[in-house]
Amino acid sequence: VRDSVRHVHRLMLEADAARHLEVRANADTPQDAARARRFGAEGIGLCRTEHMFLGDRRRFVEAMILAEGDAERSAALAALLPLQRADFTGILEAMDGLPVTIRLLDPPLHEFLPDRTDLAVRVARREASGAPPDARDTALLAAVTRMHEENPMLGLRGVRLGLVVPGLFAMQVRAIAEAVAERERAGGTPRAEIMVPLVDAVEELRLVRDEVERVVEAVSTETGVEVSCPIGTMIELPRAALTAGSIAQEADFFSFGTNDLTQTTWGFSRDDVEAAFFSAYLEQGVFQASPFETIDREGVGRLVRIAVAEGRAAHPGLELGVCGEHGGDPASVGFFHEAGLDYVSCSPFRVPVARLEAGRAAVASSPAAAGHAAERPDRHAQRASRPGSDRPDM
Ligand code: PEP
Ligand code: MG
Repeated sequence: VRDSVRHVHRLMLEADAARHLEVRANADTPQDAARARRFGAEGIGLCRTEHMFLGDRRRFVEAMILAEGDAERSAALAALLPLQRADFTGILEAMDGLPVTIRLLDPPLHEFLPDRTDLAVRVARREASGAPPDARDTALLAAVTRMHEENPMLGLRGVRLGLVVPGLFAMQVRAIAEAVAERERAGGTPRAEIMVPLVDAVEELRLVRDEVERVVEAVSTETGVEVSCPIGTMIELPRAALTAGSIAQEADFFSFGTNDLTQTTWGFSRDDVEAAFFSAYLEQGVFQASPFETIDREGVGRLVRIAVAEGRAAHPGLELGVCGEHGGDPASVGFFHEAGLDYVSCSPFRVPVARLEAGRAAVASSPAAAGHAAERPDRHAQRASRPGSDRPDM
């Protein structure tokens, strides 16, 4: 057993030495971040902040929905601010010295709002029992009915929500900037990056970018700590990929969201389609593998290549990564290497496989890299010696 472990360890080191792709992880808690780091993740490529609004915190979301006027909404956001700040401080601490890409809120509304049917049943039962109406339930039902969407995945999500609900993104950005300032004061090396979801048009990103810069500057002045966070965007809609040249002018980085990009390119609902007809499609050979698992090189992949080329032409220093499920799919990592991305980001458990595949892809595209890698097995050790970085377990 010890020999096999040693063999795997050696293989990982060789892959690390050969690969060009950095491997990051998708994580939203300090625990997951620490686990990812132990598996060798070189940063967090996607921290989904909507996961932080579930459970008990739904009541803040409800308060925001029910808010009548700016003052009430601001109060709900102010109550969320310290909770979000603590979320980000924990993750930045776990990943000290490594990049942490924090995505602003991207909830499909139906996953957030109280269930409309449950509410309607509760209100109707109370009415039938002759009890006086529950004012909160009645107000929530009216709000949820007003906000109902037939296609929430194509609705008020991501940047759209941020532009429609005043103060929402500003609260999150303030929490991030204050967490960075706090970590810096504690002697850490926080490297937060702010990512905007579901951008279709450069105008959306420009508006958010202006707001982010204003808030970060205000926090820098208040705290006396010079906070600086790169601002980038997900590329997860065909329109964003096709207009990547203009979007790149407002972005420090792109991260391909291949889950939504697959959904919107094929027109398959990512939540429903597999059960409905994917097995028949696989049997009939329409595709060899689900495009939600393995990158569709001809369609989605072509959009990625267009966005890479146009993004880099417009903004040569643009950093490029992928954080959809495909980022950890062994059959897709090679594609991202060929497409010239800087990193893939995947679930913590897939990090070792992504490291191996990234190494394999580098050797396959340039066999000399294998010999080269053998000569520099210390490359990963060099990476690992960056501030705050530890040696991975594998
Ligand atoms: C994506 O769409 O690929 C992505 C990473 O975002 P999410 O899965 O959270 O929509
Ligand atoms: Mg997405």
